[in-house]
Amino acid sequence: MSQITEQIHSSEISDILENSLSGQPPAENDYIRLLESDDSYLIGMVAGYLTRKQFGNKASFVNNIILNYTNVCITDCKFCAFYRPPGHEESYTLTLEEIESRVKTSWDMFKIRQVLIQGGHNPDLGIEYYENSFRMIRKKFPDVGVHGLSTSEVDTIAKVEKSSTKEILSRLKDSGLQSLPGAGAEILTDNVKQIISPKKIMSDDWVRIMKEAHAIGIPSSATMMYGHVETNHDISEHFKKIVELQKITNGFMAFIPWSFEPNNTLMQKEGTVNFGAGGSELLKMIAISRLIFDGLIPHIQSSWLTNGVGMAQLALQYGADDFGGTLIGEEVVSCTGSRSTELTDKKIIDAIHQIGFDAVERDNFYETVSIH
Ligand code: SF4
Repeated sequence: MSQITEQIHSSEISDILENSLSGQPPAENDYIRLLESDDSYLIGMVAGYLTRKQFGNKASFVNNIILNYTNVCITDCKFCAFYRPPGHEESYTLTLEEIESRVKTSWDMFKIRQVLIQGGHNPDLGIEYYENSFRMIRKKFPDVGVHGLSTSEVDTIAKVEKSSTKEILSRLKDSGLQSLPGAGAEILTDNVKQIISPKKIMSDDWVRIMKEAHAIGIPSSATMMYGHVETNHDISEHFKKIVELQKITNGFMAFIPWSFEPNNTLMQKEGTVNFGAGGSELLKMIAISRLIFDGLIPHIQSSWLTNGVGMAQLALQYGADDFGGTLIGEEVVSCTGSRSTELTDKKIIDAIHQIGFDAVERDNFYETVSIH
């Protein structure tokens, strides 16, 4: 430890790292200094220490599927390779029977504990579609948690129904929605959103809908998609908005930084982004996230989906405590053709054991199901 202490002491961000080690998270004006620092390894050491202090040698994961219920979308995000416009020959929307059959098969085969439900902004789907799906899942598969709908999907349903997002959230909760994924945040500054997703809700709407969800007892994740047109200043603003909201609501269960995968997207075709941010940047983002959210948001996810299992193992040593989900059936990232997007619980457990940790299977609310 003394050698590390010396290295920390001679770093340009020693004050931030030493504060973190004594339980004082970085101040807002330190975020940029962390993002601009080349001392990723030291940030990672401190983040790993904070994580082990809280979780010991344990890493959690959830046995889940992703149900991409429709790829019909009218929002045309430039970073998306998944969606198809209404009427397109490759467009699809799952029926209630198809949803039931997928959840049943996954329950029978894998004993999943969560279904992550996300899809396009489909103007033909009213709220009953979602209410019927959630009610069916919770009634027929009571051990399967419903983690679904980004803030922008909630906003779309509100527009279709000519209702408020508050009212929509309340009805969705009554029908079985248990938590919201953080998707749709991307980077919470409007100058970035105007470039990558100009037709999607802007930053204030994301924050407002999350606040409304937390207020009625729907907890959520927060995400950040980095590695495209954003600057360090934008990332810093993103962190600030999440910290500010969490201090008010305490509704975020986890933070998930994941890197943009440009393959097959308009942004790659236009030459805006030619390649992903890569492994070093992932580790830095994970580590900075742990420091910033220490004592505020309990869980940081490894983001294996866009970075692979090997990077997820390293992420668990750089500040992540949760591997993420098995994500059987994922179709959004699969459309970028970047890597295999299916991982069984056995493979995750093996990957966690390979780095000498115990693997904790958890449920939708991060409660322990079993320890391996
Ligand atoms: S990211 Fe979502 S909202 Fe944007 S185009 Fe893709 S499916 Fe539509």
